Amino acid sequence: MTEPDLAWTRWRPAAITAITPLTPRVKSFRLAVDFAHAFRAGQHVDVRLTAEDGYQAQRSYSIASAPNESGTIELVIEGLDGGEVSGFFLEVAEVGDAIELRGPVGGSFAWGPEEGGPLLLVGGGSGVVPLLAMLRHRAHAAPEIPCALIYSVRGRAGAIALAELEARARDEPGFMLRLLTTREGAGRRIDAEVVAAVLAGLGPPARSFVCGANPFVGAAASLLLAAGLPASSIRTERFGG
Ligand SMILES: Cc1cc2nc3c(=O)[nH]c(=O)nc-3n(C[C@H](O)[C@H](O)[C@H](O)COP(=O)(O)OP(=O)(O)OC[C@H]3O[C@@H](n4cnc5c(N)ncnc54)[C@H](O)[C@@H]3O)c2cc1C
Repeated sequence: MTEPDLAWTRWRPAAITAITPLTPRVKSFRLAVDFAHAFRAGQHVDVRLTAEDGYQAQRSYSIASAPNESGTIELVIEGLDGGEVSGFFLEVAEVGDAIELRGPVGGSFAWGPEEGGPLLLVGGGSGVVPLLAMLRHRAHAAPEIPCALIYSVRGRAGAIALAELEARARDEPGFMLRLLTTREGAGRRIDAEVVAAVLAGLGPPARSFVCGANPFVGAAASLLLAAGLPASSIRTERFGG
């Protein structure tokens, strides 16, 4: 009998190789790991910080990059007011620091071309991060699969990877972006009309992935169910809040 591969359950050091500000509250972090080519888009890692007195804090962060051969993964972290771990990343972490990491983690909130399409992605705020990995993976591995992203943000300045998303919507046939700004312009939240319009353009999704803070995920998943999508086709990931 072969031993199960439990490498992902081990805490191991990962060096920060690059830090890039994306919005006033969000930064991208590149981490050197040995599984950059071998995870599923949508999975996350657990990160553990240890203070000098031994106090430890552990949080989950989604992988934003698609599987690739660079030897690094990208995490995209939003700084929350008073946030213990996100505050460390936004204000203290520097290139060359090593943090402890475990993963990749997550079974059902993951997508690959073998699941077919169309693919519906619904993200609120930093909840777009695992959806970015799926979009990047689709563009590389299965561009023929129709895909739509409904992305809800307070305003454009806080939207993560907006330039990339708008370029993809312009350049990639079969990818549709519906950006909703809740506190800018007319201010719009996700609602039944938005969902119906996107589904009309996309066709019935084989899989839908919804990610964001608890209230957003609850509201968005209810709208997808009300639009007639089978519960078994909808996957959700809650970031907290
Ligand atoms: C599977 C998974 C993947 C995740 N991926 C990402 C990711 O890619 N990027 C990212 O930025 N975060 C992600 N998160 C959230 C992350 O794990 C932390 O919860 C977040 O960074 C806050 O941790 P903290 O230590 O900074 O805040 P804490 O010190 O734990 O909390 C500070 C304050 O913020 C509130 N709070 C905690 N979480 C949230 C939230 N999500 N929204 C609003 N308020 C909150 C708390 O109630 C508290 O008042 C993910 C969570 C999960 C479960």
